[in-house]
Amino acid sequence: MASNKRLVATVDLRTLEVTIHSRVRFKCVEGCGRCCRDLEVPLRDEDIERIESLGYSAWEFVDYEKAFYRGDKFLGYAIKKNPVTDECVFLDPETKRCRIYHNRPLACRLYPFVFARHGESMEIYIREDPFCQGVNHPDGEEITEEFILREYGDVLREYRDKLTKVND
Ligand code: SF4
Ligand code: SF4
Repeated sequence: MASNKRLVATVDLRTLEVTIHSRVRFKCVEGCGRCCRDLEVPLRDEDIERIESLGYSAWEFVDYEKAFYRGDKFLGYAIKKNPVTDECVFLDPETKRCRIYHNRPLACRLYPFVFARHGESMEIYIREDPFCQGVNHPDGEEITEEFILREYGDVLREYRDKLTKVND
């Protein structure tokens, strides 16, 4: 699905200094679950291993017929959907809550944000999908340096550590 995305912030991966580029608010709407139906979620190897460690087998949740590429580079397979509802197999159909919330794939943790690394800098975009009522929600939290480091500090530190190792 095509969507607009807006640059919200840039993070210097060496210092974790955050520069905010546009004012955006966000609040996930309780009981919505639309992104778990309307998006295709890419799985990294680490996501698959973590979910398998909960006792699931990959064939239960990996859709090997849907693959993501960046140019020629294979990025990963998609998470499986329920063929009747088109919802992710981990979405509870009644409560619209994720059954593996604390172990969900990175792409789910980031949504509606998207990270794009350029060298030593991480650009953070927000997708403006029409189905997501949380973007610019009037009660939403303003996206600030504090928000980014609180929600995604661990992810950013992981990138920083990989970068440091490569340059050692
Ligand atoms: S579509 Fe937006 S508001 Fe709805 S569950 Fe996903 S992030 Fe939350
Ligand atoms: S893993 Fe959880 S958060 Fe991710 S799409 Fe499935 S139900 Fe939604």
